[in-house]
Amino acid sequence: MRYTPSTILVTGGAGFIGSNFVHRMLRADHTVRIVNLDLLTYAGTLDNLTDLPAPERHVFVHGDICDSSLVAQLFDEHRIDTVVHFAAQSHVVRSIADPGEFVRTNVNGTFTLLEAARSAWLGAKGVKPPEVARTRRFHHISTDEVFGTLTLEDPPFAETTPYAPNSPYSASKAASDHPVRAYFHTYGMPVVTTNCSNNYGPRQHAEKFIPTVIRNCLEGKCVPVYGDGQNIRDWLYVDDHCRAIHRVLTHGELGQTYNIGGRNEWRNNDVVSLICGLLDERLPGQAPHERLVEFVTDRAGHDRRYAIDTKKITGTLDWGPAEDLESGIRKTIDWQLGLTQ
Ligand code: NAD
Repeated sequence: MRYTPSTILVTGGAGFIGSNFVHRMLRADHTVRIVNLDLLTYAGTLDNLTDLPAPERHVFVHGDICDSSLVAQLFDEHRIDTVVHFAAQSHVVRSIADPGEFVRTNVNGTFTLLEAARSAWLGAKGVKPPEVARTRRFHHISTDEVFGTLTLEDPPFAETTPYAPNSPYSASKAASDHPVRAYFHTYGMPVVTTNCSNNYGPRQHAEKFIPTVIRNCLEGKCVPVYGDGQNIRDWLYVDDHCRAIHRVLTHGELGQTYNIGGRNEWRNNDVVSLICGLLDERLPGQAPHERLVEFVTDRAGHDRRYAIDTKKITGTLDWGPAEDLESGIRKTIDWQLGLTQ
């Protein structure tokens, strides 16, 4: 049965994926209203929310997902029927330096949102199951990093792969996935969870891998690559991810988790070569950009390989990525050059 959201509380909607989701939803759904709660940490910026397709259906609230009174007030004031929860501390390197902030935001923040939804939707004044299953959704955005790392021979991560997080970031995300599941089984909270691979594309924070490679190439600066550059990631173009979230939100089965991947397993070295080659085409005067590559000391606990088995979402919800890595990187370069919104 199709679910139709009316007013969505998007958390972290000034960040990379959240802002792309806000743009997509306002474009794709002509009636939905969005209340966007974001603390505007170093990772969030209102620049990501300029030129929204229907700004009159978007309200921005500057605040913290851990602030239970604010969150309760938003549920009440805006009659929130749907939560799409992106807000998180998301940078693995930062989690090594400051794990406490990751526990606060990712674990306590998710708990605060679940409690607010429970009180508003299932409390004394709330609706009762099965009506709640028809009229409310809590969509939790998680990561493939909760599954740990793979060898070259291992099969890709499936929804049934046991959790084995290796960094404070992935551990805090794993810890936030469990109460979401528990609220479904214990309280009948209408939840869905998605675990996706590495995203890239427009509006990604400048310090992440692909934006750094593109920027440093454009500025003629050294392009740092961790370790031997042989780490493998599955790369997912951000708008493909947002389309998958929309699909799971409206058609996913309650209590289920769905893995989302780009079917693009690439070694970091090969990603860098691809970007350098595409920039050589664009800016032949500065070729070869690959001369800028410099290998730097590997980071602690750096997972070797991630790969995603997308059979479940492909088979049950008819979703697949539209971009391969080359087409997605071309779009990302255009955006970084200021040629597209
Ligand atoms: P991001 O760091 O770009 O954005 C996070 C946003 O959350 C920022 O706008 C930030 O200001 C906001 N935020 C942080 N703490 C907050 C708080 N306490 N209250 C309210 N807002 C707060 O992250 P992203 O890359 O867009 O990732 C979004 C979600 O997707 C995260 O949950 C992340 O774990 C997950 N994810 C990301 C990737 C990826 O490749 N980027 C891959 C898999 C899963």
